[in-house]
Amino acid sequence: MPSNAGPAQDDKHAAPPLPAPLAVPVADSHTHLDMQSGTVEEGLAKAASVGVTTVVQVGCDLAGSRWAAETAAAYDSVHAAVALHPNEAPRIVHGDPDGWSRQGARTPGGDAALDDALAEIDRLAALPQVKGVGETGLDYFRTGPEGKEAQERSFRAHIEIAKRHGKALVIHDRDAHADVLRVLKEEGAPERTVFHCYSGDADMAGICAREGYYLSFAGNVTFKNAQNLRDALAVAPPELVLVETDAPFLTPAPYRGRPNAPYLIPVTVRAMAAVRGTDEDTLATALAANTARAFGY
Ligand SMILES: [Zn+2]
Ligand SMILES: [Zn+2]
Repeated sequence: MPSNAGPAQDDKHAAPPLPAPLAVPVADSHTHLDMQSGTVEEGLAKAASVGVTTVVQVGCDLAGSRWAAETAAAYDSVHAAVALHPNEAPRIVHGDPDGWSRQGARTPGGDAALDDALAEIDRLAALPQVKGVGETGLDYFRTGPEGKEAQERSFRAHIEIAKRHGKALVIHDRDAHADVLRVLKEEGAPERTVFHCYSGDADMAGICAREGYYLSFAGNVTFKNAQNLRDALAVAPPELVLVETDAPFLTPAPYRGRPNAPYLIPVTVRAMAAVRGTDEDTLATALAANTARAFGY
């Protein structure tokens, strides 16, 4: 925050107010508590106060995945997912000073370094509090052609790890719908596969429905320019729909651009209920059951 910012500016960056509580508690199926301000206790208490009583904490690199597993071990309301993010895998192989993990410059590690990192993810995936393997998948928005090979190799390895441990697979798919669906088909998707921050259209939702993939909707379903997401949500089978924050990212309207956190899930749930033409309690009941079934807790 620049010191010369006025009150209007402060407001734009301040945490949004607490929404009215949900009558039926739900889970935030995908969050990054380690990237949010405040302590884990504060974040969980604030979320629980509005009916968000469970969160899935998602790791994006080795340090983040270890932290997710430790946090899930420490709190009953937290479950963990562990993975190398699709943008992390190429960095491990090639090195990249702008790396995801905020640990500064890396030295290029080659294929052996990726194998070592995957072995650690495999070890973490065996832990009982780890309910998911992800976020993994393909990201053609942030990773260029030079990283595609490492990214796909990592994705395939994560699919294999999820299946061997019987954990949910959490997919990150950015501008890569066709290839994500192709790789899942080629490898054979795990029994429980979740498209986090679902970004496809209604046609793709139809494909996911046939395959039994879960679609997790984030705050961007409320964005003005996201009619394709609302069209997908409108046709998604009720038993396959989840809700998430992906916090600190993708804060729902009308708070877009301000910091996101699990306590804002009710804002997205209400917007989703409007899209589906259902009442919020009915939707929340389905969301809670779906998330528990998807992650097996
Ligand atoms: Zn993601
Ligand atoms: Zn995420």
